Amino acid sequence: MIIKVSDIPDEGLHVPIKDERTELEYGGAKLRLAKPFSGFMNVKRASGRRVIVEGSMSVTLILTCSRCLEEFEFDVVESFRDEFFPVEVLNYTEKELSKRELDTLFYARGEIDLSLVYLEKAYLSIPMKPLCREDCRGICPVCGKNLNEGSCGCEVKRVDPRWSALLEIKEKLLKG
Ligand SMILES: [Zn+2]
Ligand SMILES: [Zn+2]
Repeated sequence: MIIKVSDIPDEGLHVPIKDERTELEYGGAKLRLAKPFSGFMNVKRASGRRVIVEGSMSVTLILTCSRCLEEFEFDVVESFRDEFFPVEVLNYTEKELSKRELDTLFYARGEIDLSLVYLEKAYLSIPMKPLCREDCRGICPVCGKNLNEGSCGCEVKRVDPRWSALLEIKEKLLKG
């Protein structure tokens, strides 16, 4: 979705998000989409050759739960307002880059790739440790069964080491 800044009319552009991709590159792997990107963007020119992109987007990603390893659908719904500056306004010494400039998006050769706006929102919304649900019970360390589907009957003795120390003391006291 590349637009030329010089093609944006004074009243701005209303651009529906139409994106056919069915997967995203993510950490060297492919992330499948359960629902494609949709939404809209209002694009307008502002002073100082800035371009302001406002709108909202949604997409449904398929993530893998970090506890039970099952896939689940993850909805991303975001509204946004981003400002693009022409790359020519950049100071070339890195020290002079203010915090604001580091957070700012730039465009080069008079063109903006609008897909960067909503792709970034999707990437930023992916959790470090995705969970299919807040209280996911994970998998049994013995048989590997998904414990969200019920318990497996394995004897998993997980005695807290602090408790076992207390139990020893109690036993000693009882023995006198
Ligand atoms: Zn899970
Ligand atoms: Zn088990």
